Amino acid sequence: MFQKSGSRPFLIAGPCSAESEEQMLQTARELAQQGVDLFRAGIWKPRTRPGAFEGLGAEALPWLRKVKQETGLRVTTEVANAQQVYEALKFGVDVLWIGARSTVNPFSVQEIADALRGVDIPVLVKNPVNPDLELWIGAIERIRNAGITQIGAIHRGFSAYAKTTYRNAPWWEIPIELRRRMPDLPLLCDNSHICGNRHDLLEIAQHALDLNYDGLMTEVHPNPDEAWSDAKQQITPTVYGELIKSLNLRAASSEDPVFLENLENLRHKIDEIDLELLNLLARRMRCAESIGQYKQRNNIAILQSSRWNEVLENAFVQARERGLGEPFVEKILSAVHQESIAVQQAVGSRQQAV
Ligand code: PEP
Ligand code: MN
Repeated sequence: MFQKSGSRPFLIAGPCSAESEEQMLQTARELAQQGVDLFRAGIWKPRTRPGAFEGLGAEALPWLRKVKQETGLRVTTEVANAQQVYEALKFGVDVLWIGARSTVNPFSVQEIADALRGVDIPVLVKNPVNPDLELWIGAIERIRNAGITQIGAIHRGFSAYAKTTYRNAPWWEIPIELRRRMPDLPLLCDNSHICGNRHDLLEIAQHALDLNYDGLMTEVHPNPDEAWSDAKQQITPTVYGELIKSLNLRAASSEDPVFLENLENLRHKIDEIDLELLNLLARRMRCAESIGQYKQRNNIAILQSSRWNEVLENAFVQARERGLGEPFVEKILSAVHQESIAVQQAVGSRQQAV
């Protein structure tokens, strides 16, 4: 259900929270004209601190049903416990989503899964708030084990203690690894909750599509500044329409034989270079082993921080000349350095064992 149609992503949009029947209908009518596939609205809102607007609850469910009847749009809302599942099903909600604060808790996910047994409704599972891929996969498995056949994952970013440009750090490597482990699972990007602001929505959505995500979930409100929750990140239906139009849509692959041949040649080069890199790394580790033995014979400490600083500083100079980014070079060399230390430690413990 959540797959692309051609190169067009599956589009989910609607307000962060349901506030009134009028707000819902007005937003939905405009979104229906823009070809949105699924209308979202939060009814039960998980808020970080007490006292914030916690959603209108079941009172808003008939409005979702009305959106469906009037516009023909399918509708979705967040559920966090069995009671909310039953209420949502009673009002004909088409798709349920599990929020980031529920995915993190296997008890909550299992309660939702048990409530869904015997009902094959599509379910979207957001990533947990913390960067733990196993929890995300575990939640997907619990829903799948309850007999749900249409499941999608939503990447909404991760909480970070350090301040980042975004409200929730995207850490793209985590959804990329999810894709590798579950290649058939549709993957969508909630650009609103990653960004936390309006200005970066396009950039994040485009990045997701460049990575071949299947769809987007975006918060849209008729009067964003007055929204009862997440005012800073919501956009009007008109701005949403412009955002979708300015996306550069890429096809997942091509049948063109010339394209395929050129790509094959480039990939062949990449494979050769990767092999060279592995040979070099193996050589470097053999050298680290010799150094380890030498230090061991002379009873010298393994870690020499002044030398490590020197290696990094030299590498940064060389990297700049070659057009390589410092953070990238630092990441690679840190990994190499850590492995060298481990190799040298292994030399030490082998000799102690003799
Ligand atoms: C939401 O979609 O409004 C929401 C609460 O999202 P998340 O679970 O990603 O914080
Ligand atoms: Mn929100």
